[in-house]
Amino acid sequence: AHTPMILDGKALAATLHDEQAKKVQALAPRAGRPPGLAVILVGEDPASRTYVANKRNACRKVGFHAPEYNLKDSTTTQDLLSLIDTLNADPAIDGILVQLPLPAHVRKEEILLRIAPDKDVDGFHPANLGRLVAGEPGLVACTPRGIITLLDRAGIPISGKHAVVIGRSVIVGRPMSLLLLNRDATVTICHSKTPDLPAAARQADILVAALGRPEMIGRDYIKPGATVIDVGISRGADGKLKGDVRFDEAREVAGAITPVPGGVGPMTIATLLDNTLDAYLHHTGLSSP
Ligand code: NDP
Repeated sequence: AHTPMILDGKALAATLHDEQAKKVQALAPRAGRPPGLAVILVGEDPASRTYVANKRNACRKVGFHAPEYNLKDSTTTQDLLSLIDTLNADPAIDGILVQLPLPAHVRKEEILLRIAPDKDVDGFHPANLGRLVAGEPGLVACTPRGIITLLDRAGIPISGKHAVVIGRSVIVGRPMSLLLLNRDATVTICHSKTPDLPAAARQADILVAALGRPEMIGRDYIKPGATVIDVGISRGADGKLKGDVRFDEAREVAGAITPVPGGVGPMTIATLLDNTLDAYLHHTGLSSP
């Protein structure tokens, strides 16, 4: 039977965390401080609480300073803006992460715009999005950057390949498409108005499914031998996490594939720490050991 390469994001994330811990050990004595990531959570959303806890635990494991701000659901836009101003000015802080979604009464765009672009480790600030469009270095959204790392470390070539990205959100699909383009892939971006999605997807040497439709992508979307990256995370009625791809079908045709869970998710967190390390090097003027 055909067996694809399983792209084990969980294992690679553990390797990256070891590398990050070594970097912190080498750099912190020279800088006089460890890297700092401030994590802000507004409200009680259980999924957000889990994400924030995972991020904070990863930070502490590798030796980052990682203060956490758990704010009441009633927090105002003004309260949040003042906290961001304080953190922007704090020399112990290299990165500021505001966990999304924010409560409906908070003006999200205003918040994201206030984070200093050199501390914007989520890569959502328009200045960083602009750099990505221009192909200039800057902080890039964690999920798509993590996917590039996963491809690179697995030795999967990008240059000259046809990449198809399903989804055009600012968090995943758009930055993913631009990163692949900047690495010389030929890129097709698909979305809910794409007329024949299976035909478009079958062109892909690298297929990134980031649509948030549990198990929609089956065998008929996949060219034999393609690399399939499943970004989707949805919780089924049974409480199990589901990707956008029907894994059991896809594994029969794909050349390489990410599982859910254990694929893209852990890479997102590992990349958040890489982004914070990049910001730390920038702020301290040190170079990577
Ligand atoms: P959004 O809902 O913001 O975007 C979904 C995109 O998919 C949209 O561009 C939408 O098109 C498109 N789409 C939706 N349905 C279809 C369809 N039937 N056919 C074609 N295109 C479709 O989601 P996000 O980008 O924020 O997240 C996508 C998924 O990835 C979610 O499951 C999310 O939970 C997961 N995720 C996982 C992360 C991880 O670390 N593993 C991190 C971030 C997200 P249109 O623009 O036309 O509406």
